[in-house]
Amino acid sequence: MISRSTALRFILAPALALTLAGCGAPLSAHWQGLPGKAPSEQGAATESPEVTGTPEGPDCAEVKCVALTFDDGPGPYTESLLDVMEKHNAKASFFLIGKDVAKYPEVVREELANGHEIGNHTWSHQDLAKLSPAAAQRELRKADEAIKQATGAAPTLMRPPYGTITESLKKAQPVPVVLWSDDTLDWKTRNTKKTVKAAEDIKPGSIVLMHDIHKSTVDAVPKILEDLGAQGYHFVTVSQLIGQPKPGVGYETGQKPGTKK
Ligand SMILES: [Zn+2]
Repeated sequence: MISRSTALRFILAPALALTLAGCGAPLSAHWQGLPGKAPSEQGAATESPEVTGTPEGPDCAEVKCVALTFDDGPGPYTESLLDVMEKHNAKASFFLIGKDVAKYPEVVREELANGHEIGNHTWSHQDLAKLSPAAAQRELRKADEAIKQATGAAPTLMRPPYGTITESLKKAQPVPVVLWSDDTLDWKTRNTKKTVKAAEDIKPGSIVLMHDIHKSTVDAVPKILEDLGAQGYHFVTVSQLIGQPKPGVGYETGQKPGTKK
């Protein structure tokens, strides 16, 4: 006899997050949302939306800023990356894989303690656009729980693996959804020099995609920080770069000098 497993059921809360996502969406034409796959049921978050406050740091509408972002960690090289970042007083954003958080909980706590920002990159790096709405929400909420368990705080950003997410799932997120403007392809080249070159080919306001699970990437970071620092760049978190990103809204760039309202 087969009994229905209640463990597989996912309770959907009222679409609270949707009410917070009604402002003008600053999405650029490059956004890769997949509106054709909208689920019939809006999978809103079960958690209270974490509204990102005014982040401290340089005013990126007045000075040159870049947001370095590291996906797929934590991993064996993340701690040495944190040391390098601290030496340069540089902040970054880490998009974490939920199932790996428990392997390096102290590293994840250090990320937060050092002033970096933590984002949800799902529990097991699945393509959310290919999952059912309920399964996609489970991937996200399970990662939220792992991060909360390690740090005591919920992630303040989300980045979907492969940059793919349905429009309705994006709108239902309790945090801003962040893609990137500059892909270093570090995961593909696994080459420190090429990663440096790609990461330095940016503009103020860029969100740079890298992966701290590769040694070649972590080895590239000291030179990136030195060179871009010499060009006057400030290394900030995604929320600092954007200002006050809104839950359920997608972003792939931030503020640049001369854009003060
Ligand atoms: Zn990833």
